[in-house]
Amino acid sequence: NVSVVLFTCDLRLHDHPPLRAALDGSRQVVPLFVRDRAVDRAGFAAPNRLAFLADCLRDLDAGLRERGGRLVVRSGDLVEEVCKVAGEADADEVHLAADVSAYAHRREERLRRALEAEGVRLHVHDTVTTAVEPGAVLPTSSDHFAVFTPYFAHWSRRRLRDPLTAPRTVHVPDGVGSEELPSRAGLSGLSPGLAAGGEREGRARFAAWLRSGVEAYEDRHDDLAGDATSRLSPHLHFGTLSPVELVHRSRRVGGPGAEAFVRQVAWRDFNRQVLAARPAAATVDYRAKHDRWRTAPDEVEAWRAGRTGYPVVDAAMRQLLHEGWMHNRGRLLTASFLTKTLYVDWRVGARHFLDLLVDGDMANNQLNWQWMAGTGTDTRPNRVLNPVTQAKRYDLHGEYVRRWVPELADLAAPAVHEPWKLQGLDRAGLDYPEPLVELSEGRERFLRGRSS
Ligand code: FAD
Repeated sequence: NVSVVLFTCDLRLHDHPPLRAALDGSRQVVPLFVRDRAVDRAGFAAPNRLAFLADCLRDLDAGLRERGGRLVVRSGDLVEEVCKVAGEADADEVHLAADVSAYAHRREERLRRALEAEGVRLHVHDTVTTAVEPGAVLPTSSDHFAVFTPYFAHWSRRRLRDPLTAPRTVHVPDGVGSEELPSRAGLSGLSPGLAAGGEREGRARFAAWLRSGVEAYEDRHDDLAGDATSRLSPHLHFGTLSPVELVHRSRRVGGPGAEAFVRQVAWRDFNRQVLAARPAAATVDYRAKHDRWRTAPDEVEAWRAGRTGYPVVDAAMRQLLHEGWMHNRGRLLTASFLTKTLYVDWRVGARHFLDLLVDGDMANNQLNWQWMAGTGTDTRPNRVLNPVTQAKRYDLHGEYVRRWVPELADLAAPAVHEPWKLQGLDRAGLDYPEPLVELSEGRERFLRGRSS
């Protein structure tokens, strides 16, 4: 018999339960990726992610070829394409990883019905895209955890399944046609400093991280200039790395750095279980409401371009433009700046992030934006991050600002964080904007908005 394995956000061969189940039950397997036109139409086909995805698909195909197989790539309506491939291969089973968004749920149900009508069974596998699946740990009084700390206490006590090895051989039946693999060539609008994708790249990065990064993670993860986080987020988003394997191997290294790192990976599971239980949280305020957000198009444009006049905010926004990635501390303070200081709807910022972030992810992006905007599950929703205080704490010597804002490259700290304080010619010689807004004014407007 023949099985189809439909790859979505799990573009790897190591620790892949759907692939293992298919290989255990079948003589032949069709590894399939469908570029879903509905996802493109919904505006998620951002160039940076398409480029990273192309790398991942090419690497997956190469890995399969080393094992005697190949990747079948199609594009169109996902349900129709899977049914067609199942028909061409005469398959009796399709294996798929569970996903959390409202769209993914609807798509899975459509797929199940369409396949059943053809006599093909759909198997959906947990713990492929998360370490602990949504719904596995629950509070006594609700269908999900809204606050991270108690979630994490339960999450930490779960026994994770053992990671699976990559298969040795994969036999793909003849007669199933594939489109050409996508490539980076021909994509325009890419961030110049975009990272490379693919399972091999992800595994190499993770191995290097365990050898020489994770140990210092607890102390250094907030150091903007130090860039001392794992940068594994795009690999987790596209599933070139398995969260289960990540947690196992990090725990084996042990120590405070590895513990802090595992805690962040649990944040990812946390957001996914919120989105699974509250699909509308991707677009609608999760808890508190702000009905009178400002539109302020010029201010939003200055924020996007990294021209707000607040150096650390501008540095972070320019890192995003250049790399399609931003340090977590930068994400926090730029999101606070947009939603609290400028008092602009978090969805405007979340959209811009999704247009550029190579790790742009429905659960992590939307829920972190909600958290920072004070509309989500933050237990301190009135917190406003002051970009000057943040800069002095997390970019003590101004190195991060100088790296990304060349107009300020000749300034030392603390002047580099407050160029408006410079006098006379020192100020006049800088081609750098005045602050867009007074911080105290923004802060008061936000707090008034909340209480009214
Ligand atoms: P590390 O610090 O090395 O952490 C390891 C992994 O843990 C990350 O790769 C990520 O998968 C997970 N993680 C870390 N922090 C968080 C967090 N706060 N919430 C959830 N998971 C976390 N992350 C995304 O993956 N996609 C997004 O679209 C995204 N948008 C964000 C938007 C805002 C406004 C904010 C404040 C955060 C956002 N994050 C997002 C979370 C976090 O900033 C990134 O995951 C992290 O910066 C990625 O860098 P890293 O891989 O070096 O992280």
